[in-house]
Amino acid sequence: MKNKKISYTIAAKDPATHMFQVTMTIEAPAAEGQVLVLPAWIPGSYMIREFSRNIVQIRAEASGQPVELSKLDKHSWQAAPCKGKLTVHYEVYAWDLSVRAAHLDQTHGFFNGTSVFLRAVGQEGDPHVVDIQRPAHEAAAKWRVATALKELKARRYGFGTYVAQDYDELIDSPVEMGTFEMASFKALGVQHDVVFTGRVPNLDIARVCADLKQICETQIAFFEPRTKKAPMDRYVFMTMVVGDGYGGLEHRASTALFCSRADLPTTAQKGKEPSEGYMKFLGLCSHEYFHTWNVKRIKPAVFAPYDYQAENYTPLLWLFEGFTSYYDDLMLVRAGLLSEEGYFKMLGKTVGAVLRGSGRTKQSVADSSFDAWGKYYRQDENSANAIVSYYAKGSLIGLALDLTIRAKTNGKRSLDDIMRALWQKFGRDFYNGKPRGVTPEDVEALFDNVAGFKLKTFFDKYIRGTEDVPLAKLLPQFGVSYKDERKSSKPGLDVNIGREGADCKLSAVHDGGAAQKAGLSANDLLVAIDGLRVSGNPSNVDGLLSRYKVGETVQVHAFRRDELMAFDVVLQGDRVPGITIAVEQQKTSLRRPTA
Ligand SMILES: [Zn+2]
Repeated sequence: MKNKKISYTIAAKDPATHMFQVTMTIEAPAAEGQVLVLPAWIPGSYMIREFSRNIVQIRAEASGQPVELSKLDKHSWQAAPCKGKLTVHYEVYAWDLSVRAAHLDQTHGFFNGTSVFLRAVGQEGDPHVVDIQRPAHEAAAKWRVATALKELKARRYGFGTYVAQDYDELIDSPVEMGTFEMASFKALGVQHDVVFTGRVPNLDIARVCADLKQICETQIAFFEPRTKKAPMDRYVFMTMVVGDGYGGLEHRASTALFCSRADLPTTAQKGKEPSEGYMKFLGLCSHEYFHTWNVKRIKPAVFAPYDYQAENYTPLLWLFEGFTSYYDDLMLVRAGLLSEEGYFKMLGKTVGAVLRGSGRTKQSVADSSFDAWGKYYRQDENSANAIVSYYAKGSLIGLALDLTIRAKTNGKRSLDDIMRALWQKFGRDFYNGKPRGVTPEDVEALFDNVAGFKLKTFFDKYIRGTEDVPLAKLLPQFGVSYKDERKSSKPGLDVNIGREGADCKLSAVHDGGAAQKAGLSANDLLVAIDGLRVSGNPSNVDGLLSRYKVGETVQVHAFRRDELMAFDVVLQGDRVPGITIAVEQQKTSLRRPTA
């Protein structure tokens, strides 16, 4: 009986070259010639990225003899049939500082398995072992390792051998190595490690841990109110801190995050109110942590299993990303970290952002989910006019559905019950030998069942259709006011403006707005309004326009490429929604204790 196991070593001989050296050993290669494939995308980030383009050289051998590798397509190779175990050597260029790929230099190393581990086709279900080797560089003498992978022959946080039960788990467990700052806490008995890479003087990591503990315990108890059992044995938050950055990617027992240094609390701020930036960071952590249940275990059927080589189309990202976005901030409120006042202020901003784009009248969130690969992930200057965000509108759908169910059932049922029902039916046993994904039909049937009434009209209007969710009608029933205070008397061009060196550049021109009607385009550089120079500060445009009235015509000069053009713009009233949402009198609380 052959030992069915796939093993890898990953080394960084010279971090300055940004190259990981990987050796892969297949104990029992396929008799007809083993096929090896690198994923084309990383789950959670819905875009084909063709990671194989970073493989610089690759060769194979068996019993000390070279084995020919034939290229099948841009991601795949097939080894010639061989006797005994097959060993493949390759190098991967790692110089993408993001949560989606791999990065290596003398300060740290980070990789997602999707960037560095070839898949042995047909052997994905066998145990995968990886020996993470300390880089030879002197700077790496004090490096440690952070990952959710289980140690096989390694000390916790040490270099050595780690194991995953299958290929899916291997590439769902990113690895950080370096001289990171780290602290740990327990949430309902489960260890959570918090890792920060990048320079952060006087980081108050104790405060971060205390706050994350509240968030994690709130979420674990949300999904499992009775047992309070977390779905993983250990969890790792790994954060890359940079001057300016924001984002995250969810995994089954960890998350890779990016944040701005200024968003993290310093020890000197101890006891002070959390800053807006810190609240944004906690919201990001809350979002990725909620994915531990919603998308990493409760999954669309097309993700069970993932097809790593091509687009996996689902019309359900409004549920997996939108509802996660609804609950991320709400969990901060329930954990006692964000006031209801602060919550509704943020909600007003989200509503305004959704109402700003006319794309919402042309694309439903179901279509936006399905087309994420080509549209949401490939945004350009026309996106506001063409697409709707399944994150932002999806979160408003979560709120509207929550309020609709609470209103109809006199507060007996809520969206919480739907999330728990999804968890019990599809998520809880996903990695316990019963992987079952969710189809759109499952979703609608389960929603109807838990709510106790038919939601077809709701789905038709707001999910499959493009209607705006009726928050102006729903919120007041709960003692929360909703006002749109846009200033129709304030003259505007209806554009988004960015800085380009010393100039103002139109980054987006909205459909039907004053600028578009006059012929201005995205990427035009504004030069002057009625003969007065427009400086590089976008607020300068508002200042110049404020001298005019709605309906007046102004002459705008702009460069398109290097050609100067003149436009007669009839000023319109400001079309930017000014949504204010506030608690007037509390009738029922979204903080309703979990059942
Ligand atoms: Zn997400």
